[in-house]
Amino acid sequence: MPSILPAFVQTVETSVLTKRASAAYGRRHTTSEGGTAVRILISGAGIAGPALALFLHRRGVQVTVVERAPGLRTGGSAVDFRGDQLAVLDRAGILDDVRAHATGMGPQVVVDRADRPLVALPAALFSGELEIQRGDLTRILHDRTRADVEYLFGDEITALDETADGVRVTFQRADPRTFDLVVGADGLHSRVRALTFGPEDGHRTDLGYCIAGFTAPNLLDLDHTGRIHNDPGRAVMVSSGRDRAVADVGFVFAAPAQLPDRRDQDAQKALVSAVFADAGWHVPVLLDALRAAPDLYFDTLSQIHLDRWSAGRVVLLGDAAWGAGPGGSGTGLALVGAYTLAGELAAAAGDHQRAFARYERLLRPPAARGQKQARGAGPFLAPATDRRIRQRNRTFRLLGTRVMSGVFTWLTTRTANSATLPDYPDVLVPA
Ligand SMILES: Cc1cc2nc3c(=O)[nH]c(=O)nc-3n(C[C@H](O)[C@H](O)[C@H](O)COP(=O)(O)OP(=O)(O)OC[C@H]3O[C@@H](n4cnc5c(N)ncnc54)[C@H](O)[C@@H]3O)c2cc1C
Repeated sequence: MPSILPAFVQTVETSVLTKRASAAYGRRHTTSEGGTAVRILISGAGIAGPALALFLHRRGVQVTVVERAPGLRTGGSAVDFRGDQLAVLDRAGILDDVRAHATGMGPQVVVDRADRPLVALPAALFSGELEIQRGDLTRILHDRTRADVEYLFGDEITALDETADGVRVTFQRADPRTFDLVVGADGLHSRVRALTFGPEDGHRTDLGYCIAGFTAPNLLDLDHTGRIHNDPGRAVMVSSGRDRAVADVGFVFAAPAQLPDRRDQDAQKALVSAVFADAGWHVPVLLDALRAAPDLYFDTLSQIHLDRWSAGRVVLLGDAAWGAGPGGSGTGLALVGAYTLAGELAAAAGDHQRAFARYERLLRPPAARGQKQARGAGPFLAPATDRRIRQRNRTFRLLGTRVMSGVFTWLTTRTANSATLPDYPDVLVPA
């Protein structure tokens, strides 16, 4: 692998970085080695949270991650990287690991009710330059940080009180503690955002669709390929890549007026089963698998729009700040955001407000582009009528041609490259 990491950075001693980071903030906390460290609390152990922990720990910050779920949430469909997003994986020192877990996905084939192929989409269109299961990425980030970062699973923040030199944090289970900074990387329905900027309703825009994803046995015996089946307003996607025993199943459908409670998985499974009850193809057997699935991910396709991503010592990252929905480069941007936030904190020599402002300035344009790109994902994946499904399939056919697939790849890579990626030598992580 040609590395973009300057070799000299890889040899920088962690102790030097620790000293520099500690000097950057007013507060000092005694470490077990007798030194001092800045303390940062991250809410959310999805993608953005552990990625930020990785970059921050590299510069000697004492990081705690609090995650509401009792363990790592390894569900979710595959996520792909293009262009500069691969450079961020490299800067995080995980590019080789990600390559080792690549799905190696082949074409996605749109099929009719009788399983007849209608159009096949080349892998590069759906799976980017490098694709990995979201769960594998989360595991890699957690494995890289678990020895040095404190993870509090099964807990969450209940109150944030900012004082002159820190944030007093109250948890549901753990004892209250004070941190220098708090980062909300707790996803679309961020608690940190609600506590800092007010109720979610004021910041969330629903796009009119729901998504349900889970893993199931590879019932369709797919081998590095996927199938997409549509009825008006409904899509079913099944694929199997690296692990031939397992399939990724996704249902996308027009959102009903009444949605189940966000934490009630039985009600969510019941809704999906009802919406797809009369669907043909392999749907009945996939619904049986849904009922048995332990790792259902269910949400609305929604976006988050905020005027500011930080207030005082609290800052938002990833979906919590700029959630876009599928097709919005959410995972790539979460990684770019983590790298940029850590890098700006390192560069700002203790002025966290300057760091937050620069981080926001750098991430706003690609986040807005991701949101724009994702706005049409629902109707594109699950067109509302038979006529629109046929139109969409014609577009797919065009995209499958050499010329159009080149244009599409150029466009998506341009979007992936739209984030400015400054060099922050202090936070680079060796492979
Ligand atoms: C299990 C799962 C499956 C997903 N599957 C898909 C998918 O199939 N398609 C898709 O487009 N996107 C999916 N996503 C969203 C996708 O991961 C993000 O859009 C993207 O990777 C940005 O990551 P993030 O870290 O900002 O947010 P997320 O990956 O959503 O991570 C947020 C984390 O914060 C945790 N959390 C939430 N509330 C609290 C709280 N109050 N306190 C502490 N922790 C909290 C969550 O449990 C989660 O672990 C999924 C997210 C999850 C959690």
